[in-house]
Amino acid sequence: MAHVVLTDLVKTYGTFKAVNNVSLRVEDGEFVALVGPSGCGKTTTLNLVAGLVPLTSGDITIGDRIVNDIDPKDRDIAMVFQNYALYPQKSVYKNLAFPLQMRKLPRDEIDLKVKEAARVLDMTHLLERKPRELSGGQQQRVALGRALVRDPAVFLMDEPLSNLDAKLRVQMRSEIKRFHQDLKATIIYVTHDQLEAVTMADKMAVMNGGFLQQYDSPATVFANPVNMFVASFIGSPAMSLVPLEVSTNNGDTALSGTEGWSMALSPLNARKVQNSTSKKVVLGARHSTIKLHKHVIAGGIPAKVYTVEPTGDVTFVQALLSGATVNISVPPTVSVAPDETVWLEFDQQRIHLFDGETEMALS
Ligand code: ATP
Repeated sequence: MAHVVLTDLVKTYGTFKAVNNVSLRVEDGEFVALVGPSGCGKTTTLNLVAGLVPLTSGDITIGDRIVNDIDPKDRDIAMVFQNYALYPQKSVYKNLAFPLQMRKLPRDEIDLKVKEAARVLDMTHLLERKPRELSGGQQQRVALGRALVRDPAVFLMDEPLSNLDAKLRVQMRSEIKRFHQDLKATIIYVTHDQLEAVTMADKMAVMNGGFLQQYDSPATVFANPVNMFVASFIGSPAMSLVPLEVSTNNGDTALSGTEGWSMALSPLNARKVQNSTSKKVVLGARHSTIKLHKHVIAGGIPAKVYTVEPTGDVTFVQALLSGATVNISVPPTVSVAPDETVWLEFDQQRIHLFDGETEMALS
C-alpha cells in the first residue's frame, strides 16, 4: 500500500473551478472519505487521482512518485464504481480473472489470486455464477474483488454503495470497513452520504464548492466543525443554526433573539464573542444537547413547536426560534404538540458559536 499526497489540486472547466486548491495527505493504510453535496467536486478530485481527467495545476503523489503525467493504468490504483461495471456474459471467476489475463499473468498465478480474493470476500461459492444470478450486494462484492486481485497501491471508490437498498447499504458498509481493516488498504472513498463517511472513514475531507472545508477524523469534524457549512452538513438531524445579535445583559456579553429574549453566556463563550468584530453571531446546537421544558425555567428560551416526529425510540421536535428551525430530540414519553410554547435550555459547554458574517467558528 502507499500514501497519497494531493498538493494544490486545481481543475477548471472553462472559467469554472470544479476543484479549487485542494491539498491533503492520505497516510499509508488510511481510509479517507471525500464527502460533500452534489457538485462539490469530490468525484472530480477522485478522477484526478485516478488520472481519468487531466489536471489543470497541482501535484498528485502516490507512494514516492509524482503521477501527474502517468497513465491511469500505470498509477497502481484500482477503482470501484457505483455501477459495478461487470462483464454480464462472464462468470464471477472470469470477471475476477480478466484484469489479470490482460496483464498476461501466468494461469496458475491468476487462479491463486482469484481464489484468494473470493475467500477474502466470502464468495467462493459464487465463482461459477453470472452477474445476473447475483444480488446487488454480491455484484458489488465482485466489483471489490476485481479491484482486490490487482493488488493496487491505492483503492479509489466512487459511491460504491449508492445503487443498493438501504438495508444492504448498511451491511456492505461494514463489509467494506472490514475489508479495509483486514487488508490495511489505502482507500479514498467518495460519498455524498455523511453517515457513510462518519461510520467508515479514518478521516473525512468535507468539500463544498470545489474547496476543501475541513480534513480530520469524523469525531473531530463532528465535535469541532470549522464553519457553518461543515456544522450543518455533518450530523443527522442537522445541527440547528440560529442567527442572533450580540447584546449585553447587566454589563455581561449576551446573545439576543428577534423575539426580544437574551441568553447569558459562559465566560468562555463570552470571550469568543468579544474576540469577534461581528455584531451578528450564529448559535449552533445539536439536537441531543438541547433540553426541552414544557414550563418556564430560569434561563430557558421560549420557542414555538412547529412539528413533532415520533420515531419510536426518540421523538424529534422542530421549534421556531429567532427565525430559524431548531431540532430537539426528546424521549417518546414527552408529549408536545404543534404551536405549543416550550422553553429551550442550551448547554453552554456544548453550543457552537459562528461569526454571522464569515460563517467561521469563533475561537
Ligand atoms: P455528485 O455527487 O453529484 O457526483 P460531485 O461532488 O462528485 O457531485 P463533480 O462530479 O466532481 O461533483 O463535479 C463538480 C463540478 O464540476 C460540478 O459543478 C459539475 O457540473 C462540474 N463538472 C464536472 N465534470 C465536468 C465537465 N466535464 N465539464 C464541465 N463541468 C464539469
